[in-house]
Amino acid sequence: MASKQTSLDQIAAEIVANNICPDLAKSAKHLVFGEGSPDANILFVGEAPGKNEDLTGKPFVGAAGRFLNELLESIGFKREEVYITSILKYRPPNNRDPKPVEKDAFWPYLLRQIEVIQPQLIVALGRHGANCFLPELKIGQEHGQIKEWEGRKLLPLYHPAAALYNSNMRQVLFDDFKVISQYIRN
Ligand code: URA
Repeated sequence: MASKQTSLDQIAAEIVANNICPDLAKSAKHLVFGEGSPDANILFVGEAPGKNEDLTGKPFVGAAGRFLNELLESIGFKREEVYITSILKYRPPNNRDPKPVEKDAFWPYLLRQIEVIQPQLIVALGRHGANCFLPELKIGQEHGQIKEWEGRKLLPLYHPAAALYNSNMRQVLFDDFKVISQYIRN
C-alpha cells in the first residue's frame, strides 16, 4: 500500500493535472497543498493562501501563520506534529474572498486529504472554512464548540488573521485552543 505521504503527493499532482481553477492557477505562483505530519491527529483547514503562502508554497507562513504557531505552542504542539491546509490551494488575486465555485472545485481534494490523514479532529479556521463543512454554522456563536461532521469531530474557530489586530479576539483563540488540548492528548 502506498504511504500516506505518497497518497498526498498524488492528490496534489491531480489538482494540477485536472486543471482545477485554471484562472487561479494562472495568477498564482505556487500550489499550496498543505504540510505537516501525514499521521497527524489534528488537521487544520484555513480558507485560502495569501501572499507569503503563494510565494513559498507553504500554508500559514505569514503573520497569521506565526500566530497559529504561537497558538499551537500554547497547547504544547509543534507545527510538524499537525497537518495544515486550506480549502483553496491557490491564492485568490488580491486576497479576495474565495468564490463558492472555487470552494466547490477544491472540496473533493480536501475530502481525499482527510481520508488519507484520518485525523481525530478537524479544526476549521474561519467562517469560510467552517461553512464548507457545516453551512448553517454561525462562527460568532459556535466557535470553540466541538461539532459532528460525517462521523468526525470538527472544531470551528475564528481565523487567526482576524485576531492579529484585536487583542480580545486573540484571547478568544487562546481559550478556544484549550478545547483542542482537552480533546487530543499529545
Ligand atoms: N490563511 C489561510 O486560510 N490559509 C493560509 O494558508 C494562510 C492564511
